[in-house]
Amino acid sequence: MAEITESKNFIHAFIDEDIAPGGQFAGKTVHTRFPPEPNGYLHIGHCKALIIDFGTAEKYGGLCNLRMDDTNPTKEDAEFVDAIQEDIHWLGFDWGDRFFFGSDYFEKDYEYAVELIKKGLAYVCELTPEQFKEYRGDLNTPAISPYRDRPIEESLDLFARMRAGEFEDNKYTLRAKIDLASGNFNMRDPVIYRIRHMHHHRQGDKWCIYPMYDFAHPIQDALEGITHSLCSLEFENHRPLYNWVVENVSVPCHPRQIEFARLGIDHTVLSKRKLRALIEGGYVSGWDDPRMPTLCGLRRRGYTPASIRNFCESVGVAKSPNTIEFAFLESCLRKDLDATAKRVMAVLKPVKLTITNYPEGQSESFEIENNPNNPEDGKRSITFSRELWIEADDFLAEPIPKYKRLYPDGPECRLKGAYVIKCTGCVKDEQGNVVEVLATYDPDSKGGDPADGRKIKGATIHWVDANNCFDAEVRQYSNLFDDPDPDAAGKDFLSCLNPNSLEVLTGCKVEASLGDAKAPTSYQFMRLGYFCPDSKDCAPGHLVFNRSVSLKDSFKPGK
Ligand code: ATP
Ligand code: MG
Repeated sequence: MAEITESKNFIHAFIDEDIAPGGQFAGKTVHTRFPPEPNGYLHIGHCKALIIDFGTAEKYGGLCNLRMDDTNPTKEDAEFVDAIQEDIHWLGFDWGDRFFFGSDYFEKDYEYAVELIKKGLAYVCELTPEQFKEYRGDLNTPAISPYRDRPIEESLDLFARMRAGEFEDNKYTLRAKIDLASGNFNMRDPVIYRIRHMHHHRQGDKWCIYPMYDFAHPIQDALEGITHSLCSLEFENHRPLYNWVVENVSVPCHPRQIEFARLGIDHTVLSKRKLRALIEGGYVSGWDDPRMPTLCGLRRRGYTPASIRNFCESVGVAKSPNTIEFAFLESCLRKDLDATAKRVMAVLKPVKLTITNYPEGQSESFEIENNPNNPEDGKRSITFSRELWIEADDFLAEPIPKYKRLYPDGPECRLKGAYVIKCTGCVKDEQGNVVEVLATYDPDSKGGDPADGRKIKGATIHWVDANNCFDAEVRQYSNLFDDPDPDAAGKDFLSCLNPNSLEVLTGCKVEASLGDAKAPTSYQFMRLGYFCPDSKDCAPGHLVFNRSVSLKDSFKPGK
């Protein structure tokens, strides 16, 4: 597992200041939290936040809480709560026994709201949502709030009755009394409680009023003793409200909110709402579709935790939004798998190759290295016989200029790990399609090793013994979106989809050693790319592989 980078980032600079003698957290343990909303699966953007939250705590010998931010009852689901924990553990982070639910603080939230009313800092408002918008004002005009001076006793009574379920949704709200003329609209007497007669996944029907995020979140942080509440940039404008809440209710501590830029990746979208729309529209098979930027999708595609963490760490922590190339994520995976993946042979678009001078019915074995980068990974035995499968495009009946593979009377080519062969012709069907390639082998070239010093003009090609192999389905993926920036504001992201992002190949041939392949083992299919067995659909007798990434690196550093 990659180490968390030690490089200085601006968050660390703030924390250094805070814990230095005389700083606001001098002598305190640095305490962060990761607060996912359990309304979907985590995506790679969350990994960046995880690295920042857990990584910062780790760097300072502090603690990081995992808190399900389930204050909004609308979309939360236990399925997501479980999946989020699984994904975080998979990445290698651990919260120990510090696992919380925002909804566990509902009673406290209520008490603090009552405290605000008693202090004259909150009031019950009965503007309709439409009126609320109408009275919001603009930069030059303050908002209008006709219920602002409601007597404290009346607000207390109405708020208690809101809780008791006397009123329908939206009939009343509780608003913080701050500043109707503020240039920051979040401070113009924001709503802090609303009525929602909804079932909550943990609280059941206990509540019909729910606190707004901007009120609940600072309270949750303060109650857990968080020192640094690290969140993404869209909360920057909410920081004054965050501070107002912790300053005006009697919470035990005053955490500091620090914002960082969200991670963006080209050719994909990183928003649960949009990812959910892809699933609901049937554009992908689910949260774990291997084309999805979700952690479960990337895992199923064959991404390793190390490759994802390395990616997020290399990207760094910035204060301004940045979009990173998907190609860079791919290059991080390639780098990881190059070191670890076993090399095997598979033929994706097969055509039969018959070695006409090899005795019928005969078979022999060759030892080949599992990973030339890692001699300790050992060798395995593969079989060879008169009939082999090769890639259809490793043969041309009529060669084109510079073509160095098989064609009638063409150059000698090596069969990887086996013999040198020479193409002598082919057999075509009635429609003129090549159905069989014919070649002769040189019995003295056994081992097919380039180190034998023999000058071979043609290419080295991969092959599979047709008498000892398995059929497989191979799923090849490309960008989910053709448009590099489908996430851009105002763009209809669904119209940016790549209709050819999934290509399913059936009747592929894989070497016998793959008969019991199981996720999460990754393989390099020689000359083709890195592949892994599909965790859902692959089984002995029904092999299914996902292409994790091709071999060719299209990422240009510094581009
Ligand atoms: P989404 O739009 O995907 O639902 P969110 O911010 O609503 O994103 P949460 O579940 O609320 O998702 O996020 C938990 C934490 O992860 C938050 O602190 C949030 O700021 C952070 N986060 C979410 N997306 C990204 C991203 N792309 N880059 C960095 N951090 C992110
Ligand atoms: Mg959210």
